Amino acid sequence: MMQTPLTMTHMIERAEKYFPKKQVVSRTSSGINRFTYKQIAERTRRLADALVKLGVTKGDRVGTLAWNHHRHLEAYFAIPCMGAVLHTINIRLAPQHISYIINHAEDKVLLVDPDILPLLEKCAHELPNVKAYVIMTDEKELPKTKISPVYHYEDLLAEANPAYQYPNDIDENDPAGMCYTSATTGNPKGVVYSHRGIYLHSMALGLADTAALSEKDIALPVVPMFHANAWGMPFAAVWFGTSLILPGPYFTPKLLAELIEQEKVTITAGVPTIWLGLLKELDEGSYDLSSLRGVLCGGSAAPKGMIKAYEQRHKIPFMHAYGMTETSPLAVISTLKSYQEELDPEEKLNIRAKQGTLVPGLEMKIVGKNGEVAWDGREMGELCIRGPWIASEYYQDERTLDAFRDGWLHTGDVVTIDEEGFVKIVDRTKDLIKSGGEWISSVDLENALMAHESVFEAAVVAVPHERWQERPVACVVLKDAFIGKITKDELVEFLKPQFAKWWIPDDILFVSEIPKTSVGKFLKMALREQVQKDILPKN
Ligand code: ADP
Repeated sequence: MMQTPLTMTHMIERAEKYFPKKQVVSRTSSGINRFTYKQIAERTRRLADALVKLGVTKGDRVGTLAWNHHRHLEAYFAIPCMGAVLHTINIRLAPQHISYIINHAEDKVLLVDPDILPLLEKCAHELPNVKAYVIMTDEKELPKTKISPVYHYEDLLAEANPAYQYPNDIDENDPAGMCYTSATTGNPKGVVYSHRGIYLHSMALGLADTAALSEKDIALPVVPMFHANAWGMPFAAVWFGTSLILPGPYFTPKLLAELIEQEKVTITAGVPTIWLGLLKELDEGSYDLSSLRGVLCGGSAAPKGMIKAYEQRHKIPFMHAYGMTETSPLAVISTLKSYQEELDPEEKLNIRAKQGTLVPGLEMKIVGKNGEVAWDGREMGELCIRGPWIASEYYQDERTLDAFRDGWLHTGDVVTIDEEGFVKIVDRTKDLIKSGGEWISSVDLENALMAHESVFEAAVVAVPHERWQERPVACVVLKDAFIGKITKDELVEFLKPQFAKWWIPDDILFVSEIPKTSVGKFLKMALREQVQKDILPKN
């Protein structure tokens, strides 16, 4: 067979050639903008040329600090296709982590949204490698800023060559992108994606038994483009000629509902927090979201109650998936096997609420105390994965030794696997609760609590215990209508029939919110501290 390189240039050139009329709808600070792929492809060539003129050469890192919009999409292709490395920076990280990763990656140029400038101003003085800041603004004038040198994105594009030709000497194993993932302690860890990895991962998103992304879709990635490449959706969408809807900055559940309705979105992707917010909006408002064929949900466990509410109350199909920055990220997705379709609805829901089966192309093993675990849905072990879109190391980071061993990525996620090969995430190794030498899954307890009609969100953490080492304590945010009307005992009674006695939390604390990470996941470490220091002593 021919050894044609699997590079991303194919993707943007395919959209340009075969889908010039298809649309990208981009919400920016000035409103909704519409572009065709012909326009996007030309602007992408111009951006690549502009970056060359700014001195970016092969292998250089170009950082982005941006929301989901058309300019960020152009950067997604211009940077890797000109031979440089697209470094998407998570703007929700603490300023000291942002400067750490810009310096660690040695970004040469930064593409920045205007509203993120104040954040950058705080750390620009400690970024010696950055030679140029390009502001991605809708306004004619550049915003006033202390940072220099600054360039206007649109001015650079206006002066650039629309017929710029991408180099044809890119190797499929060359770095195309990089993204830092937050660590429990210490600085974020960098993952470098190759052209080949992104190419094969994009193909995986198009498989009928995964997300089945296709030309016929209208895709809305809600998951930020600064988080695990918006789960690879922008890459695959451009390649397949899928219409893309990019929701821009500061959207609300109402805005999302309106965008899905107006643009007739067929598939969308995001973390459970987003979908909990949208669910509330759908329950209260009146929208026609019948165009949706799937809501892809990952990043944390999708509560079964939420999947049921979407599917039964709103007739919107849910797709539960699992992955991490290190896995590009799609690794496991929950689609029923043909013969499971005959099961009764509750059983089907139980299976689909698991994270699912392994995506073709990857391999996994689950290692417990005594080697690989049994496929019985009960024995717990750590999930290890390998494959062509799984990272092989952290970028210049000694923590590589810990996570990447014997040719496998050790995910740090504790899982079970059932007879049919469906993986269920039980916890992160560091969040498991160890009571009397046995493991309690905080995720299972949280999901059960979140299925109660009064509960908006619930997080369960371990607190130290003299006799049992650790015991679970639940923090619950009630829905507004139930505040003051529901007691701890009622929730405990609700849990009792569902769990062994020793799994029932020692206490249930009502809180107004649960601290979250920069990507909307429960910040268990902060919550554990809060519970021990403030909440428990006052209760
Ligand atoms: P971060 O560690 O910064 O949150 P990632 O997005 O890479 O970044 O997080 C990956 C982790 O998220 C996984 O290791 C796993 O613990 C968790 N995760 C992802 N998807 C799911 C899911 N569907 N259910 C439960 N946990 C999930």
